[in-house]
Amino acid sequence: MLKPILAANWKMNHGPTDARAFMRNFLAHYRRDNDRTVAFFPPSITLAAVQQALADRHEFVLGVQNIHHEASGAFTGEISAGMARDAGARLVLVGHSERRHVFGETDEQTALKCELVCKAGLVPMLCVGEKLEEREAGQTEQVVLRQLDAGISRLEPTNVATMLIAYEPVWAIGTGRTATPQDASAVHAAIRRHLRERIGERAAVLPILYGGSVNRGNARLLLAAPDVDGLLVGGASLDAGNWAAICQE
Ligand code: 13P
Repeated sequence: MLKPILAANWKMNHGPTDARAFMRNFLAHYRRDNDRTVAFFPPSITLAAVQQALADRHEFVLGVQNIHHEASGAFTGEISAGMARDAGARLVLVGHSERRHVFGETDEQTALKCELVCKAGLVPMLCVGEKLEEREAGQTEQVVLRQLDAGISRLEPTNVATMLIAYEPVWAIGTGRTATPQDASAVHAAIRRHLRERIGERAAVLPILYGGSVNRGNARLLLAAPDVDGLLVGGASLDAGNWAAICQE
């Protein structure tokens, strides 16, 4: 059994002042020893505040929500993988559905981002997931595996073996409609089978997280589902007490 990974994606919420208050509150509620990994993806402008608040607590890992697909240059408003590392991130979300569907990120860009993340010595958490119409048309696996293949297309097998995957069906994100543990398991198993062709038995221990309307009521069952190695949580990670409770499910 892998150590479960509980990851908070704050999206565009919590500036540094909010984050400091959040962390005081969260740490007062979080009583778990080292039997799980808790990751935070704050806005990049908030990363330093979260890092300071977590100081020497090694069970916590920090990441950024996005990087640009070029290493540096005239890209106003963007940050690079190298900057993310310099600021203390270890993880980078790549291909989140909001990047893909709100900001028009392409499969090719996710491939470039994963490559830059690995080159910077960081770990990508590649997000994949189908839209409602794709699920209804029976295309879930096809879409998810296409996004997966694209995301890892520029990586060496050793980098693939140390990355993380998050399966986030688009229809479940922020909608209150969660995939059943069985549905999540089925897609996770398909991802793992597919990765086995690329990296062999190392696929058995590659963490695959589920995301999409996770909350206190459904976290435990989802975490108990086969092939679900962790959770990537948006809305329900924004309240410190709530998030601490989910992390301890
Ligand atoms: P919600 O938990 O708000 O559905 O968001 C999921 C998500 O997009 C995490 O990356």
